[in-house]
Order: sequence, then structure tokens, then C-alpha cells
Amino acid sequence: MKIGFIGLGNMGGPMAANLVRAGHDVIGFDTAQVAVEGVTDAPDAESAARDRDVVITMLPNGAILRAVADQILPGMAAGTVFLDCSTVDVDSAKEVAQAAENLGILPLDAPVSGGVGGAQGGTLTFMVGGDAAAFDKARPLFDIMGQKAVHCGASGNGQAAKICNNMILGVTMIATCEAFALADKLGLDRQAMFDVVSTSSGSSWSMNTYCPAPGVGPTSPADNGYTPGFAADLMLKDLRLSQQAADSADADTPLGAAAAALYATFVEDEDGAGRDFSAMLPRFAARGRDAG
Ligand code: NAD
Repeated sequence: MKIGFIGLGNMGGPMAANLVRAGHDVIGFDTAQVAVEGVTDAPDAESAARDRDVVITMLPNGAILRAVADQILPGMAAGTVFLDCSTVDVDSAKEVAQAAENLGILPLDAPVSGGVGGAQGGTLTFMVGGDAAAFDKARPLFDIMGQKAVHCGASGNGQAAKICNNMILGVTMIATCEAFALADKLGLDRQAMFDVVSTSSGSSWSMNTYCPAPGVGPTSPADNGYTPGFAADLMLKDLRLSQQAADSADADTPLGAAAAALYATFVEDEDGAGRDFSAMLPRFAARGRDAG
């Protein structure tokens, strides 16, 4: 396929490289002028998108996605696929999809989970909103860049699935870290805590797979000084998107709101910026009841 790829950062770069390795013809553009092996450089976004079967974007936020879509959609042919893999707000995803549909272009919002490791290894999970026919056209690309793609329904539903998942993740990580810090103060050994909870009703991905306690459970960022992994800053971004969506849909999400507020404090006022999102554990462990 002839592919345009816009946004060649930590995620987009290795995703584009995997498409090249699989034999696709990839033209790329990034405002930071990053070079990715095998990807032909375009001078601007329009040139990267023109005459392509599929255009993929992997950008920081909804405002940038909307600006890039304004630039590229008029030059794309009807029947081609516009595949946005960025994590953005649901309203931007729907707006951009509508603009594409008005021109006969097939839009998909397909945010990912799996992080930089998943992008490099081609093991991402894609959560996809948009037309079923567009999903089928993009499926070979999902198979290269990822190990799983779930069609979630209409445009915007990929972003909806992503932020609902990450709202659960943020809340359960905080709960897991709080519980470890409480266990410490009660004199309960962290290994014993893990052995019980990971096989009991308090188990979760945060405890079992990504345990925030160093030296306990499978290897995780906690064993590497809380180097991300999944940065607290990105968790904050996703939690804010979940609250923006909850506002717009009039949904009651008190724990999501509390998690967003706590990660905001951690990242903006404390030492959470640039640390893994599981570094909430040392934060809680260092505090007493009055500090909270
Ligand atoms: P990044 O900042 O490394 O990459 C974004 C790239 O977009 C940068 O290289 C930047 O120069 C480029 N860019 C910005 N504006 C542009 C424009 N107008 N035209 C062309 N290029 C432009 O970020 P990332 O970690 O690769 O994340 C990309 C997206 O994936 C984000 O939406 C993020 O939330 C999501 N995501 C990231 C992770 C992760 O672990 N990093 C995991 C899942 C989802």
C-alpha cells in the first residue's frame, strides 16, 4: 500500500518503521524533522498525504489533529482511508471523522495501548471507531503494527474505549498504591500483600502485571527506579480526556475525577513529571494521613 504517516515521534516512528519492514511504501512528515529508516521524507503534511491509499496520523492532541486534518483532507482522494492512531478527545475525533466523510474519505479513530515497546515490537492493541468497510481495509496494517484490533462501532468509539480503559487503569493503580502504603504502615510485608491480593478479589492488571512495588511480582518500571513505562504525564492526559468526555456526555465519574486531580497534583506540583505512573506508591508511602 501507499501510506502517508504524519507524526513520527516515540510511537509513530517505530510504527512507520514496521510498515516499511513489511514492504509498504511509506512517506512521512513530522514538524520535528525526524528521520525514520526506510520512510521517505515529505516537505509538509499535504505532500505526505497526497496520492496515498491510507494516511496515518500519530499526533499529541486533538487541536493538532484538527489542524493537520484541515491541511491534508482536501488533497486526499475519495475512498482512501484516514487512520488516526493518536489519543485525542472524543469530540475532536468525531469532528475530524465528519470532515473526512464529507469528502468521501473513510475515517477511523484507532488509538492504541501497548506503549513504545508495543509500537517497536508491533504488538499494539488498536481500539477502532468508524465504518466496518474502512476497518477491513486497514486490517492488514493493524496486523503489522499490532497484535489485536477491536472494532468498537461508530466514529469516536475507539477514543471512548481508550479513555474508559485508562480511567479504570488510573483508578486501580491509585487504589493499589494506596493499599500497599497502608499495608506498610500496618506492618504487612509487601511480598505477602502481593501473594494474597494477586490471587484474591483485589487483583487487577496494576497489581498482577505491573506491580508498583519494587522487587515484588513480575518485572515492572518499579524495578527500574520508576522510569516509564507509561509516564504519569500521559496518564494525566488520558484521565483529563475521560473527564472532558464525561462532562460532554453528562456522566457521573467521581473516582475518575479524583484520579485526574491526584495525577495533576503529582505531575504539576510534586515530582511525578517524567516518572512512571506507578510512582504513586513512593508518593503515598512518604506521606501520613494529614498530608492527604
Ligand atoms: P511524541 O511527542 O513522541 O510524538 C508526536 C510527534 O508529533 C512529535 O514527533 C511531533 O514533532 C509531531 N508533531 C506535532 N505536531 C505536528 C504537526 N502539526 N505535524 C506533524 N507532526 C507533528 O508522542 P508519542 O509518545 O509518540 O504519542 C503520540 C500519541 O500516541 C499521543 O496522542 C499519545 O497520547 C498516544 N500514546 C502514546 C503512548 C506512549 O506510551 N508514548 C501510548 C499510547 C498512546
